Amino acid sequence: MTALPAGLAAFDLTGRTALVTGSSQGIGRTLAAGLAGAGATVVVHGRDAVKARTSADEIAHATGAVMHSVVFDVTDAAAVDAGMAEVERLVGTPDILVNNAGVQRRAPIAEFADEDWDALVQTNLSSVFHLSRRVSAGMIARGSGKIIQIGSVQSQLARPSIAAYSATKGAIVMFTKGLCADLAPHGIQANAIAPGYFATALTKALVADEQFSQWVRGRTPAGRWGDTQDLVGALLFLASGASDFVNGQTLFVDGGMTAVV
Ligand code: NDP
Repeated sequence: MTALPAGLAAFDLTGRTALVTGSSQGIGRTLAAGLAGAGATVVVHGRDAVKARTSADEIAHATGAVMHSVVFDVTDAAAVDAGMAEVERLVGTPDILVNNAGVQRRAPIAEFADEDWDALVQTNLSSVFHLSRRVSAGMIARGSGKIIQIGSVQSQLARPSIAAYSATKGAIVMFTKGLCADLAPHGIQANAIAPGYFATALTKALVADEQFSQWVRGRTPAGRWGDTQDLVGALLFLASGASDFVNGQTLFVDGGMTAVV
């Protein structure tokens, strides 16, 4: 097991279990590895069984953690229920749920297709409702739990062609506060992390667009795109006992992008 550096005992997750949706690649995969590195047993998730299993095996090899993998489509409520039954069989109700799976669709609003709106709402928002509801019962019975959504700076900052994506990420901010209202009395914390711009498959076209890439660097006070590793500190804080009195909050991890105009 990769030990946490001295002084970070408050972030120790030994004995905890976690499910990270959409952890077969990208941000979710780095977050799953971060939780595993802190001692958690982690369930990796995606739609592709080989990709999810490979990620789980590679993280287990790197960290020594116990890793599992499950496959289900988060846009299908029945599949979520069946998938969560498998998660519960593997690790029980997870101590930590990270609602990370998400998609992006871009088009000017006058041309925005119904199916793209539906994909965004179902993947980025309805899945968060279905998964949070599912784990809530077990977390309430246990009297503890951490639910962490992956939002976006786009919940605060509008840009052309992504009004629908922004709407889903904005809704996550308020849904997280609502979870806090319902679940804080039961010893459960619900918070969100709002990333800035990170180079993943989701942003591939933006990274390849040198003009846009330059805009990201210029618009971000830190002067660079985020590295998915930049998100791990915030996640370990929100997933661990270090944040037991932090609830309903959205933590922006964006190199300062939303702090300045
Ligand atoms: P990626 O496209 O790299 O990864 C998305 C992940 O979500 C994959 O593991 C994919 O699994 C999974 N996924 C997508 N749709 C479904 C579905 N219907 N059912 C199950 N799993 C699904 O994206 P990122 O890592 O960049 O994004 C992760 C999260 O971070 C998203 O919520 C995104 O909105 C958010 N975000 C990203 C930013 C960025 O700059 N990259 C900035 C701000 C927020 P599989 O491939 O197996 O289908």
